[in-house]
Amino acid sequence: MVFHRMLTVLFFSCLALTIAYLYKQNYPPMSAPIADPGMASRHAIVVGSGLAGLSAASQLISRNIPVRLLERGAKPGGNSIKASSGINGAPTTYQPVAEPLDAFYNDTTRSAGHAMSSFTAQREKLIETLTKNSAAGVEWLVQEKGVDLSRVAQLGGHSYARTHRGAGQAPPGFAIVSALLKQLKESPLFDLRTSCTVTKVLQDGAHVTGVAYAREDGKQEELHGPVIFASGGFGGDAEGLLAKYRPDLAGYPSTNDPRPGTQPLLTAIGAQLIDMDQVQVHPTGFVDPANAATPLKFLGAEVLRGEGGILLLNGKRFVDELDTREKVSNAITTTTPSSESPKQWTVQVVLDEGTYQAAKSHIDFYLFKGLMKKSTIAELGPQALESITQYAKVVAGEATDEFHRTTFANWTLKNPTPESVVYVGVVTPVVHFTMGGVLINVKSEVLGEDEKPIKGLWGAGEVTGGVHGGNRLGGSSLLECVVFGRIAGDQCADYLAGGK
Ligand SMILES: Cc1cc2nc3c(=O)[nH]c(=O)nc-3n(C[C@H](O)[C@H](O)[C@H](O)COP(=O)(O)OP(=O)(O)OC[C@H]3O[C@@H](n4cnc5c(N)ncnc54)[C@H](O)[C@@H]3O)c2cc1C
Repeated sequence: MVFHRMLTVLFFSCLALTIAYLYKQNYPPMSAPIADPGMASRHAIVVGSGLAGLSAASQLISRNIPVRLLERGAKPGGNSIKASSGINGAPTTYQPVAEPLDAFYNDTTRSAGHAMSSFTAQREKLIETLTKNSAAGVEWLVQEKGVDLSRVAQLGGHSYARTHRGAGQAPPGFAIVSALLKQLKESPLFDLRTSCTVTKVLQDGAHVTGVAYAREDGKQEELHGPVIFASGGFGGDAEGLLAKYRPDLAGYPSTNDPRPGTQPLLTAIGAQLIDMDQVQVHPTGFVDPANAATPLKFLGAEVLRGEGGILLLNGKRFVDELDTREKVSNAITTTTPSSESPKQWTVQVVLDEGTYQAAKSHIDFYLFKGLMKKSTIAELGPQALESITQYAKVVAGEATDEFHRTTFANWTLKNPTPESVVYVGVVTPVVHFTMGGVLINVKSEVLGEDEKPIKGLWGAGEVTGGVHGGNRLGGSSLLECVVFGRIAGDQCADYLAGGK
């Protein structure tokens, strides 16, 4: 009897243990530690919703890979949405003059300058990848994403017209970002999480296995899977990375959102940095009279000077306004700033009626935003009248320009008087673009200090460095987002397909 009871207890104990074991096998608790989190999911993680992140996400989804896109901002689009000149591509059918295959490559290495003497082989490969894939990048946006890029302009440093934008009113950054986002949102594989700030890259041995991020409510969460970093530059990190790598630019305002750079998240897991001291300063960011102290400035397009406008400091011209961005900026920043926080100067950009008509669409927008105003020379003071009178003489060929400016485009004001109408805005040099970042290879893999790829991690866009060297050509940043973003998406899809 006792023996029979013992057998029964033993039988039910074994049964309970077996059920518990089977249950655990089939339904692991959510919090159970996963042996290898990087391999437990089939989705990819993209950090940043600018053009680089959206290009990577689009490529992944075209390969049927679900994407979790984490974006720090409340709205997607990053700085990419502000891009105003266009995207480079060559050779394309939209270019007015067909160019030889290597012209874009040569322009890019020339523009990169002295930087080409270090990491030469890596840079050459990156630039070759950028330029050789440029036409395909433009075609991808046109054919597959439906973006109009039929207008082509020639920007400074380019030997051919190859910067593409649309024929309509929408600026190219806005048009491209909107088209990609719209298509992505139609896919059930796309999961966009805004107001989520990535705070850490997770690793398991040599592999990146995911990220930790903070939600808007402060809650910390983790996501597991391979990671593409497309988190942008550090131009808006005035007191952080900028102060560290370019102390002379600490506290400068920027055309980029004020936010900490993300490169430290990647160096924390061994990523290598390159060109962190290579920073592009643009001479004309608008100082908004309604909010002069904001560190975020609106870009005053080059066209203002290109169409004939001049710059005045204390009522006087001081530079050839059409010199390089660097030289015009230096001519300003070697004088005493009008404010230390943010560090800015009070320079007036002045246009006459002829210049206004030539750049009407831009200026009407600036007038609407309150960044420029219609005024008279009297309001600018007697010194300005003297300077503008002298400039009018130079334009008329009655005097030579002490600053050696040779083109005046559409300036038509011949005999300035105090009542003459002018269009005026206050501008200051602004940090515009950071050439440096994490070093990648032609597969967009982020490289470690040993120059070997960090497994499970890719980088694309302004967060990376190396491709522009000491100077980025206008239009090549949107291009790098598309080219290296798509490569990163493809490589990440292969990685997942390979069971990693
Ligand atoms: C006014 C202006 C005009 C420009 N015009 C042109 C042009 O005509 N042509 C051209 O080629 N280039 C232009 N540029 C430069 C170009 O727009 C940018 O360099 C490029 O768009 C950068 O794209 P990105 O995807 O790398 O980064 P971004 O577009 O900056 O996107 C990065 C995103 O990552 C997010 N992020 C950052 N950190 C985190 C984190 N920790 N967690 C989650 N999310 C994070 C950010 O919030 C952001 O949304 C211009 C730039 C400006 C500011």
